[in-house]
Amino acid sequence: MERYADVSYWLETAGDLAPRPPLDGTTECDVAILGAGYTGLWTAYYLLKRQPGLRIVIAESEIAGFGASGRNGAWCAPDLNISMDRLARLHGEDAARRIQQATYDAVDEVGRVAAAEGIDAGFHKGGELIVARGPHHVPAIEASLREYGRFGFGDRYRLLDAAGVAEKVRIAGAVAGLWSDSAAIVHPGRLVRGLATLVERMGGRLVERTPVADFRGAVAGAPAALVTPRGEIRAPVIVLAGEAYLTRLPKLHRQLVPLYSLIVLTEPIDDARWAEIGWAGREVVASARLSIDYLSRTADGRILFGGRGAPYRLGSPIKDAYDRHDPTHEMLRRFVRTWFPMLGDIRFTHAWGGPLGMPRDWHPSFAFDPRSGIASARGYVGHGVSTANLAGRTLADLIAGERSPLTELPLANHRSPNWEVEPLRWLGIRYTQGAMSRLDRRAEATGQPPTGRSLAERIASH
Ligand SMILES: Cc1cc2nc3c(=O)[nH]c(=O)nc-3n(C[C@H](O)[C@H](O)[C@H](O)COP(=O)(O)OP(=O)(O)OC[C@H]3O[C@@H](n4cnc5c(N)ncnc54)[C@H](O)[C@@H]3O)c2cc1C
Repeated sequence: MERYADVSYWLETAGDLAPRPPLDGTTECDVAILGAGYTGLWTAYYLLKRQPGLRIVIAESEIAGFGASGRNGAWCAPDLNISMDRLARLHGEDAARRIQQATYDAVDEVGRVAAAEGIDAGFHKGGELIVARGPHHVPAIEASLREYGRFGFGDRYRLLDAAGVAEKVRIAGAVAGLWSDSAAIVHPGRLVRGLATLVERMGGRLVERTPVADFRGAVAGAPAALVTPRGEIRAPVIVLAGEAYLTRLPKLHRQLVPLYSLIVLTEPIDDARWAEIGWAGREVVASARLSIDYLSRTADGRILFGGRGAPYRLGSPIKDAYDRHDPTHEMLRRFVRTWFPMLGDIRFTHAWGGPLGMPRDWHPSFAFDPRSGIASARGYVGHGVSTANLAGRTLADLIAGERSPLTELPLANHRSPNWEVEPLRWLGIRYTQGAMSRLDRRAEATGQPPTGRSLAERIASH
């Protein structure tokens, strides 16, 4: 299926993409799930592990992995979009510590299940390296290390000087780095497609090219339902696992905004140039830039460079056409050449992107309301590869009605406020996006770090 192979390099190299048959009329089951990305599939996996024979139907508007799960930067890292300091202010220090520990465990759990279930997900725990590309980034990585230390995780992180960074990866302008062994890289497409096959093997049913137009909670003895043009999927429990795309459902439109993240990918790099660059550990890499960059080294020797420069659009639309944004993709290609000057003539074979779901308070939530039968997990911003696994396990416990260490985390049953109505939403997000880029450019030009006191930094402080 060419259209799906064109979505990303990850889907292109994930094997057979032929769509499964769509829904063929109204049906009943025990759990109906909207969305076959990591969230929907991990939830189905843990429910079926707990109760083999449970009748699960997953409705996917395109094919499994069409969303962010089949497009991402391959980081399977113990990071949330919300800092431990902020979690501690909201929920107390102990809860912040338990949440952070759960993110380390989620990385390992992704690797454990992939190995145990025979998913060829390319899981490689090479660690994570955040680089200071100039003195202006140093205060940010030092502050991160202090924060990890305050919560008892300092042992997992090591501050590197310029030589220490160069020993791992030779990046132009890198003066320091923060390294940890707690993160992994995956092949996102094979992980999500492998999970889909696994869930089917366990008895789950996937119906593809079946868009859900609406949903209903259970009322007065009538089950909850996912409503599609091809019929309803009725069940005592429905799970809304559509992340950024949930904004298309009128009932959830203001719960998230779809923020586009874009990626470029180089051709395979030859051994001589890899010898110059290093990066033998295949750590996932980023800088301390405010406007976000992320890099990974693929198993076949390419560099993936991602970033968030694409503009938010009025009314939160999601369209295939927005997966490509020439100015942002061109900026990312330029970044590859400035980070790695030895790649001045490198060719780029792929460019893609996709929407990630950003809640108003930057706080992920995994929720289940037993009265309406509606469950949902969303709001991972750019950190869903490991977090969706945590979400799937938490939703499975919540749906089973079982108290567990996961259901006690304040991510469970958190409710984010709605975003503002337009055009306020557009004005606020565009202002913040523009201001972050300007702050980055000014810091790069002056060598002075951002103060942390600007309006944009305070809006985005999380
Ligand atoms: C370009 C990019 C780079 C990223 N990089 C990273 C990274 O390196 N590390 C990291 O941790 N995270 C990253 N993320 C975020 C991460 O990929 C997501 O948080 C995660 O994949 C979300 O999984 P999900 O299953 O909740 O949502 P998705 O993968 O988006 O899945 C939702 C699915 O639901 C389907 N769907 C939506 N609406 C409907 C409907 N109405 N009816 C039926 N089906 C529907 C969609 O087609 C889709 O397949 C990135 C995201 C993007 C876009």
